[in-house]
Amino acid sequence: MQVCRTISDGRKAVATFRANAETVGLVPTMGFLHAGHMELVKTAKAKADRVVVTIFVNPTQFGEAADLDSYPRDEARDLAMLQDAGVDMVLIPEVSDVYPEGDETIVETTRMANMLHGEVRPGHFRGVTTVVARLFNFVQPDVACFGEKDYQQLQVIKRMTRDLAFPIDIIGVPIVREADGLAMSSRNVRLTAEDRAAALVISQSLDAAQAVTDKSVDSLRDTIRKTINAEPRATIRGLDIVEAETLSDISGPLTTPTAIMLSVEFGGILLLDQRVIQP
Ligand code: AMP
Repeated sequence: MQVCRTISDGRKAVATFRANAETVGLVPTMGFLHAGHMELVKTAKAKADRVVVTIFVNPTQFGEAADLDSYPRDEARDLAMLQDAGVDMVLIPEVSDVYPEGDETIVETTRMANMLHGEVRPGHFRGVTTVVARLFNFVQPDVACFGEKDYQQLQVIKRMTRDLAFPIDIIGVPIVREADGLAMSSRNVRLTAEDRAAALVISQSLDAAQAVTDKSVDSLRDTIRKTINAEPRATIRGLDIVEAETLSDISGPLTTPTAIMLSVEFGGILLLDQRVIQP
């Protein structure tokens, strides 16, 4: 497995794959890898001849410097996991390489970036699309894998890819969960033991919503609220029930695939989960 620390070295490595007419799959990450990331790697391996993983804690998608500074990192462990998984190349660029001095170019999905989670985290999705567009340009993959856990992110990236006509197949990978149902996340290690136990209520609320027989936007919302509000440690920060692809508002009985996007806070740690419900 090659480890490249500059964009230029990364491009050279990809060029050797291309010289053999091999296809390339990209998995962008911010490191501190877990089984969720490894599922993206597995998917990329199944879809392409070579797999490139990027590890880059992207400063432009963090609202607060404190959140960026406290983001967990363990490069040695990440590299061991990627090596074991049979990854071909890991690109770990410097911030100054991704955002050169005097940088002034952004990429933004103007509607999707500024609604829902984007409304409470201004600039977040602009940071995501700006970095992902650059990563796409550095690596020029045939396919790129993203987790359905970050549901709005996946839809935003699909829209950007379509709008800018990147010749890249965007693949959404289902959420990988802990044994008790909690969606795996690099943030989970920051939960206290009590909050970790209580966080199970998130996936339970989505299971309860899925089991509702008379499905409407209101019945789904009520079910989620009731389940989560019964857990005193949990505070709902975002509960959006929207059309699954466009993220547009809907109301009344379900008529199209519908995404429930949920963010719940436990002692200052924000956890995300989602479920797409069929009508
Ligand atoms: P991150 O390192 O948190 O930016 O995540 C990198 C990629 O892994 C994103 O596409 C995430 O959606 C995806 N991901 C994170 N957690 C999970 C999970 N539990 N299951 C599936 N994909 C995930």
